[in-house]
Amino acid sequence: MKTHTVTVGDLMLKGGHLLIGGEHPVSVQTMCNTDTLDVAASVAQCERIAAAGAQLIRLTTQGLPQVRALAKIKETLSKRGIHIPLVADVHFSAATAMEAARVADKVRINPGNFSRDPSQAKALLATLLETCNLHHTALRIGVNHGSLPAHIMELYGDTPEGMCRAAMEYLTVCQELNFTNTVVSIKSSNTRVMVQANRLLVKHMEEAGMSYPIHLGVTESGNERQGRLKSAAGIITLLKEGIGNTFRVSLTEAPESEIRFGKLFLPLLATPATPTASADLWDQLIVSACYEWAPGLLDGTIDWKTLPMPFVEAPFATKEELTDFCMDLLQATRCVFTKPEYISCPGCGRTKYNLEETVRAVKAATSHLKGCTIAIMGCIVNGPGEMADAQYGYVGEGNEKITLYKGKIPVMRGIPQEEAVQHLLQLIESDQQHAT
Ligand code: SF4
Repeated sequence: MKTHTVTVGDLMLKGGHLLIGGEHPVSVQTMCNTDTLDVAASVAQCERIAAAGAQLIRLTTQGLPQVRALAKIKETLSKRGIHIPLVADVHFSAATAMEAARVADKVRINPGNFSRDPSQAKALLATLLETCNLHHTALRIGVNHGSLPAHIMELYGDTPEGMCRAAMEYLTVCQELNFTNTVVSIKSSNTRVMVQANRLLVKHMEEAGMSYPIHLGVTESGNERQGRLKSAAGIITLLKEGIGNTFRVSLTEAPESEIRFGKLFLPLLATPATPTASADLWDQLIVSACYEWAPGLLDGTIDWKTLPMPFVEAPFATKEELTDFCMDLLQATRCVFTKPEYISCPGCGRTKYNLEETVRAVKAATSHLKGCTIAIMGCIVNGPGEMADAQYGYVGEGNEKITLYKGKIPVMRGIPQEEAVQHLLQLIESDQQHAT
């Protein structure tokens, strides 16, 4: 898709800006998982992320104290000669977004979270655009599967069409006010929904005469191989067909891992596509297998039942290892589910516990189960909305307490963290026993 260019950051600073869209190369970005108020830790993580090759870094900015901390982080990085553009991630407060727009190079919002009243949400967006204009700040409008406004849910449900309609409402405000410095994203943890929604968004934008660049991502994709496969399947499928100008691989791991893995996608976009060069042979296999197989598996043009097992080759792996790899690829592309499906957020400044350790513990305790989707989410504010269609949710409340969910319903609150994995296991096993 042909898009116009969005400018993020200060054009006068060498390396201090990023051009997204137009003829500019696809860029790779990530998000800090530090507490933004901890300026020293956030600066140190930004340094590591920049060294890994990130071109844009997002930080949680939930209120005015975080806006002030973001300004300090930016200033400190700049004094150290690191001029990477910073994005303020604002979820609910339009007032915070206005202040962040004076400080950050880009602000990420979902206007639907500003107000339940759609007209008011659009009015607040219009006011934010004025501030962005004044301070040359770029904007990302981010709409996620699982958190659509009520009026959209009523008309379209939680569908790719609904996600696009929500995004188009906000892009129309930008278009009417002639504000072009906007990037748009519509994300889902379901790779098929994510791919369909982005294709549909391109169609809607073209019909409306819009050319906003697109940020790609598979949300809450998890960790390790399963998380990498989901992210790579969704993002590479779209990049291969010319959709997407910047992306974030979302993993429940250190942000540097997201960058190192995401950078492996870029050689595939060269003409002709070139193999990736990595030290990690499995990561390389994930990327090349997704490039070759994910589009057909996601679209159903490849009948996975007719494929020989394993259907990928690699001299460094045994036949059994490759068969297991292929089953994970088939699960990531939602062809067949042979293991529990895990959804876990990457964590951010709102995370209320050690997410990486917890995801490993939940996986270790539940890997023998079949036919269930388990979400492990870092915070109670956004976690329940973002865990989409998970059957079970493990959500951090704060103060080392956990709430367990069945679907969207909290069924156990205030569980001490050290007991929560066991309670989750009992909950799932009891449901499965009743079902048999
Ligand atoms: S669910 Fe909460 S902790 Fe996890 S990424 Fe989203 S906002 Fe951050």
